[in-house]
Amino acid sequence: MFESINTDTIDIKEILDLKKDAKVVMMSGHVRPDGDCVGACVAVKKYIEKVRPDLEVYAYLSVVPKVFSYMNAEDVITTTLPDKKADIFFALDLSSPDRMGDARAYFDDADLKVVMDHHVSNEGFGDVNVIDPHGSSACELLYHHMEKDYIDKKIAEALYTGIVTDTGGFCFPDTKKSTMIVAGELMEIGINFQEIIDSNLNNRTYTQSQLLGRALTESMFTFDRKCIFTTITMDMMNLYEAETEDIEGIVEELRATIGVEVAILLHQIGFKEYKVSLRSKDYVDVSKIAVFFGGGGHLRAAGVEMYGSHRDVLNNLLTELESQI
Ligand code: AMP
Ligand code: MN
Ligand code: MN
Repeated sequence: MFESINTDTIDIKEILDLKKDAKVVMMSGHVRPDGDCVGACVAVKKYIEKVRPDLEVYAYLSVVPKVFSYMNAEDVITTTLPDKKADIFFALDLSSPDRMGDARAYFDDADLKVVMDHHVSNEGFGDVNVIDPHGSSACELLYHHMEKDYIDKKIAEALYTGIVTDTGGFCFPDTKKSTMIVAGELMEIGINFQEIIDSNLNNRTYTQSQLLGRALTESMFTFDRKCIFTTITMDMMNLYEAETEDIEGIVEELRATIGVEVAILLHQIGFKEYKVSLRSKDYVDVSKIAVFFGGGGHLRAAGVEMYGSHRDVLNNLLTELESQI
């Protein structure tokens, strides 16, 4: 058993040394992984393979979105669970163990549980907790826990991916001078930052354009136009032959509407089941709303899964939002 450590100084190499007889290291991020999750998994796996070639390392995510093929994420991350017990487990970009999905059992079984994250709602559920509640991204935090000499181009592009995606291209409020410094240092390693930004923020497939157009066209206002919401149903997803990853970015486009404080995207994922994405601009704390319904996230970007009819889910969300708006 390890005594729980909370620290912002320990580096990944030192963490690995805490369990001397470790042979298998595993890591994972949250379900429906985003760029920060994928970037963190690619970067940490490659880093550990460099600093500790004696270890067997697995990075698992439920799915690897195609958008990350520029960093060969699909070759680094496995989507099938290994037939091994993990001695050390890294939970990356994960606010709580509930969001780990299928990797949860491996985390629970690991001798040394490591949490490296940046969510305000993270209470520190590991033996080692490296958490910056105001950090831009898990990837920015990870950079500070790696020895610079080992950060090659592949690791750098993965870290940069997480920073760019979680800051919406250096726009969101958790973007700080320190974020820009890290991004600048990663650029110096020679990454193709234009390709990373285009792939994640500017390019879209025709399917994504159709879905975005439909979502925007069908959006509605409430609370005196301060809140905008829209729904993407399973029927729409089938019609456009869209996948979950095609929804990425739509809630940000809703939020871009002038005069809006809060944007809500309801993505139907089952008969009476919705994945809710919440975004705000200036004063509404959307993480409070998400946490109230069992989800989490950040001040201006949060999410939660909710059950019930469309009308009930929307009503419950708007009732909870009312006191803040
Ligand atoms: P999303 O709307 O899925 O892009 O998520 C926005 C932010 O909220 C991200 O930082 C997520 O990690 C976080 N988040 C989304 N869904 C959940 C959830 N069910 N529980 C905790 N955090 C979440
Ligand atoms: Mn994430
Ligand atoms: Mn993140």
